[in-house]
Amino acid sequence: MPLNKRTIRNLQDLNGKRVLVRVDFNVPLKNGQITDDTRIRAALPTINYLLSQGASVVLMSHLGRPKGVDPSQSLKPAADRLSELLGRPVQFAEDCVGEPAESKSRALKPGDVLLLENLRFHKAEEKNDPDFAKQLAANGDIYVNDAFGSAHRAHASVEAVAHFLPAAAGFLMEKEINYLGGVLDNPQRPFVAVLGGAKISDKLPVIENLAKLADKLIIGGGMANTFLKAEGYEMGDSLVENDAIEQARELLATCSGKLILPIDAVIADAFSNDANSETVSVGGVKPGWRILDIGPHTIIKYIDALKGARTIFWNGPMGVFEFPRFATGTTEIARAVAASGATSVIGGGDSVAAVEQAGVADKISHISTGGGASLEFMEGKVLPGVAALPDA
Ligand code: AMP
Repeated sequence: MPLNKRTIRNLQDLNGKRVLVRVDFNVPLKNGQITDDTRIRAALPTINYLLSQGASVVLMSHLGRPKGVDPSQSLKPAADRLSELLGRPVQFAEDCVGEPAESKSRALKPGDVLLLENLRFHKAEEKNDPDFAKQLAANGDIYVNDAFGSAHRAHASVEAVAHFLPAAAGFLMEKEINYLGGVLDNPQRPFVAVLGGAKISDKLPVIENLAKLADKLIIGGGMANTFLKAEGYEMGDSLVENDAIEQARELLATCSGKLILPIDAVIADAFSNDANSETVSVGGVKPGWRILDIGPHTIIKYIDALKGARTIFWNGPMGVFEFPRFATGTTEIARAVAASGATSVIGGGDSVAAVEQAGVADKISHISTGGGASLEFMEGKVLPGVAALPDA
């Protein structure tokens, strides 16, 4: 499904215009240093294109979850990093609205770049407040949304602001929706979905939607435990969501032919990398022990299920991959996805870390920058940030 929204390619006459771009610079920070600049890099094609067209660029983003103004969650480090990546100065405004932003944005010349301070220093952002959105809009002549990772939130910089200025999607937004939408609407078959991670309750809507669309649905990670429990296996101290057992049972009944579950597991006597561990069949989980990874027979079964796939969507690790001793299942699945030759799409979050850890990220067709947004998109929901943009 190509994005049927107006994109920056459709914008005429950018020369001399100030383009207000919502980016997702919600990068991890440690002691004021950016530890992973992937999201900043992902915005470069849009920024560089706008600059090449003679526009000036005003960037806005949220960072973290500050409660009011919080200097430890300032976007200033992102301005410095962006400046290095662009090879040109990036100005910074100490507030995203009002005088600090407006005086700087009005003075911009073609080729200039300005980053505004963290949007979430204002409560009005998350309230989708139209007055706040209007103040944001005062910083540009055109609005571009390139923040796919925030598109599932109806926040002022994502939704309301799009109604105050001529609006369009940026290249990253377009690419994300083309890839994820392609998986949903027109996957080359066989289409295999792989879902893992901690909790089944977070992912039930995605499981339900993908169970309809995919040819096979491989389940791993903590959430497989709830399915196994629904099948009657004892799970010891494994993570099980008792509230979701009934829904798991219904899913097993309605799509049992498609759902592929673990047949063995690596269990541990503590939630620790140093715990004692054993490999058992899923019927052999001992009281007081917990499943921390899929077992070797399951790995073989899952690699086999991925063979011949022409489309793969993957979200969520197969085990507690943060502990090296329980990362084998996740690493092997990452390698199998990378080696499959299928169009492979990774839905953000921990699976991104997993393919990077396995050293195969460059063999994946598309790695989404939006964890929550990609999951909501795969549920089949229309994202507010996309809906707010005008049709092509
Ligand atoms: P999610 O954010 O739902 O994708 O979940 C990712 C988290 O699931 C990671 O932190 C994993 O450590 C965790 N996880 C995966 N498998 C298990 C498991 N068997 N038991 C507990 N946690 C798990």
